[in-house]
Amino acid sequence: MRTAEIRQRWLDFFSTRGHAVVPSASLISEDPSLLFTVAGMVPFIPYMTGERTPPWQRATSVQKCVRTLDIEEVGKTTRHGTFFQMNGNFSFGDYFKEGAIRFAWELITTPQDQGGYGFDPDVIWVTVYHDDDEAFALWKQVAGLPDERIQRRGKKDNYWHTGQAGPAGPCSEIYVDRGPAYGKEGGPVADEDRYLEIWNLVFMQYAIDEVRGKEDFRVVRELDQKNIDTGMGLERVALLLQGVENMYEIDEVYPVIAKAQELSGRRYGADHDDDVRMRVVADHVRSALMLVNDGVVPSNEGRGYVLRRLLRRTVRSMRLLGVEDRTFPALFPVSRDAMKGSYPEVESDFGRISRLVYAEEEAFRRTLAAGTTILDTAVAGVRAATPEAPTLTGEQAFTLHDTYGFPIDLTLEMAAEQGVAVDEKAFRALMQEQRQRARADALAKKTGSAGTEAYQALQRDLAAPVEFLGYTETTARV
Ligand code: ATP
Ligand code: MG
Ligand code: MG
Ligand code: MG
Repeated sequence: MRTAEIRQRWLDFFSTRGHAVVPSASLISEDPSLLFTVAGMVPFIPYMTGERTPPWQRATSVQKCVRTLDIEEVGKTTRHGTFFQMNGNFSFGDYFKEGAIRFAWELITTPQDQGGYGFDPDVIWVTVYHDDDEAFALWKQVAGLPDERIQRRGKKDNYWHTGQAGPAGPCSEIYVDRGPAYGKEGGPVADEDRYLEIWNLVFMQYAIDEVRGKEDFRVVRELDQKNIDTGMGLERVALLLQGVENMYEIDEVYPVIAKAQELSGRRYGADHDDDVRMRVVADHVRSALMLVNDGVVPSNEGRGYVLRRLLRRTVRSMRLLGVEDRTFPALFPVSRDAMKGSYPEVESDFGRISRLVYAEEEAFRRTLAAGTTILDTAVAGVRAATPEAPTLTGEQAFTLHDTYGFPIDLTLEMAAEQGVAVDEKAFRALMQEQRQRARADALAKKTGSAGTEAYQALQRDLAAPVEFLGYTETTARV
């Protein structure tokens, strides 16, 4: 089943069950504290907190998401994309636990020729919060799941909150057993590769006080209005229903892998490292396409820096695949064609998108040309001097950054590829010194207004966006 069809079935299923179909919001969230929209519920937060009255009691969406937190996982696990789509159904004070579990069970197990996804009920496992006996009983009663396929988990995995005082509650996750070839038995608690998480149901039923740590908060009361928030990974369902190995091999992503094979002359499936590179390329090209389409522009901070990093990692991965020529004019149109079925705007906006990303590739190629020789010389130097623990000094990394525009992550990555470490702490200290110098200069130049300027610079530093905590475990800074 094509991804576009899985998406459509989702919307049809929930709209015929009284849910208003709400279009995806932009990847640039309206909430200024968020770098990107990281989950389907983000646009609905004001309705969950009671800040705004929802215009409907039930809603459904397929939300574009970007999680920078998962960037290092891309291509290495089977299931993490920087960009992905989250199918969601939401209830604002309408149905609660039983309704959410019933809908989920019905959609995943109804045969495909009757509008469902047609999973075999025997491969489904679920988790519930350790003291959520109600959810446990419902999974038995509604789905007929045997006790051993309902696993209990603690706060770390099965409790949702926004990271602040406010609505919170236990959640229940749905997993598909891919079989013994994918790992060891024992359910999701034992192995999250074999048991693939596809869907998370959040039961928002409590108000909590201040969150001191991910797992350190107190329930203060039951909510008057209990809400449901669910998120299903569209790509994860697609990989299962398309019978492929991972989310980079689905119809909306794989064509870019095919193009990378063609450009590099290397075969996907022949070498593990090359496979990871091709998957990174396919993932990052798609994420960049969607981000630029939503108005993100490459820059050195915040969202623009994430985009820049994705584009640069793509160039680097293609180089490691042996391709030195420009590749974006070949890769981006392929991704556009794979995505335009669900997002026609990537085609109508492609002139602008392509101008922007092609220019970024050119700029990065110049940076690489200038800095690579310097870096390689430095690396060779420290390897000769201290072969037992070769480490670039903070100063060397700083010169690469300051004089050659080489971002630190690139220096780290390229040095690591040659078995060389970088004194990152010293580098950060030099960066800090430079910033302080710049501030002092500004102050010295303009007494009077300079005070506010330095203050604003400080504010900017402090306000560097952090990621929303609601769906993740740690705070991600980019
Ligand atoms: P995982 O444990 O696999 O990292 P998660 O628990 O972080 O997933 P949730 O925050 O519960 O994920 O998000 C809801 C659903 O969105 C998940 O059940 C999954 O299907 C999907 N999802 C989450 N992160 C990604 C990602 N990086 N790429 C693709 N799908 C994702
Ligand atoms: Mg999880
Ligand atoms: Mg989850
Ligand atoms: Mg995760």
